[in-house]
Amino acid sequence: MRIGIPAEIRPGETRVAATPETIKKYVAAGHEVVVQSGAGIASSITDDAYQAAGAVLTDAAGALSADLVLKVRAPDANERTLMRKDSVLVGMLNPYDADNNAAMAAAGFSAFALEAAPRITRAQSMDVLSSQANIAGYKAVMLAANTYQRFMPMLMTAAGTVKAARVLIMGVGVAGLQAIATAKRLGAVIEASDVRPPVKEQVESLGAKFIDVPYETDEEREIAQGVGGYARPMPAAWMQRQAALVHERAKLADIIITTALIPGRKAPVLISEETVKAMKPGSVIVDMAVEQGGNCPLSELGKTVTRHGVHIIGEPNLACLVAADASALYARNVLDFLKLIITKDGALAINREDEIVAATLVCAGGEVLRK
Ligand code: NAD
Repeated sequence: MRIGIPAEIRPGETRVAATPETIKKYVAAGHEVVVQSGAGIASSITDDAYQAAGAVLTDAAGALSADLVLKVRAPDANERTLMRKDSVLVGMLNPYDADNNAAMAAAGFSAFALEAAPRITRAQSMDVLSSQANIAGYKAVMLAANTYQRFMPMLMTAAGTVKAARVLIMGVGVAGLQAIATAKRLGAVIEASDVRPPVKEQVESLGAKFIDVPYETDEEREIAQGVGGYARPMPAAWMQRQAALVHERAKLADIIITTALIPGRKAPVLISEETVKAMKPGSVIVDMAVEQGGNCPLSELGKTVTRHGVHIIGEPNLACLVAADASALYARNVLDFLKLIITKDGALAINREDEIVAATLVCAGGEVLRK
């Protein structure tokens, strides 16, 4: 089978869906791999490295007309016209975007959106949300530290003592946990908040303090359990109590990193303008939910703005700023996913009985399968 790796064209997208490491494995399994010239350059992978791994260089049309196309982002209208009706596409295709699902279905090919994989043990090695969120959580702390005009660790010098930075992490999924671990390595003092009860123990095991917002009703406790590992929107009364507590903690914080998301919905507002006003001048907010509307209403997509003396970073795709490792981990996720849809003989076989295959298949045969 011919596997195509096109260059990503979306502005700011620096990742690529296959690396020399994964291409060697595809070639060893008997596949022909064609890579668009320059596809890896933003991830520090040269055309020579791809060729040395066994790939043949081609142009966009050559890569997009393969039997199996591996991408990072969903194809645009022009890319869709270069794809074949009988081909299969694998990528981070944003399964919540109904218009894009419909456009891909109309183009005729079959498409797998890896973000839709269920959070089950068997899917861990192909979990693109985790691999990319982990990187993003790390980079969020790096950006914050770079903008923050003080030290992160406590320092005792001959010229006096410098206090450690206080970091507040809102939303402790994969990105939040990595943000805690990274800030901890830099010597910060950390507090964190989440809706889901199991998070408390994880936060404390990383040496951070959990901001407990007690549940006052069975309904609150039930909703907080989430579903499939994901959060659900909490009742307004709980959100108000959380906001009041967060407001107090935010006044003391030097850096706030917000990661709170609810799949398929607008991100919850956790840091209000009132809270920003109450923060110390020179403090920093990194709003990792900015693409989903933001956890802070003052953050702006793709910009760093200063509001009420607070620097608010609205960088949308932090994993793209660590392109080489983001591509390496993503490419391994893709390699593992393909084991589900390629037989030992190297042929494509889409078994819709498989839970992961069924969840990720957004369209096939001209039909949108995701409701
Ligand atoms: P996410 O990116 O969807 O959301 C980030 C965090 O925001 C979550 O922890 C969520 O609970 C939190 N959040 C939502 N609303 C909030 C609010 N109002 N206030 C504070 N926090 C709020 O989450 P994620 O990183 O994808 O991880 C979700 C969970 O799934 C984690 O527990 C993770 O460990 C788990 N997970 C399991 C598997 C597996 O079992 N295979 C794989 C990956 C992740």
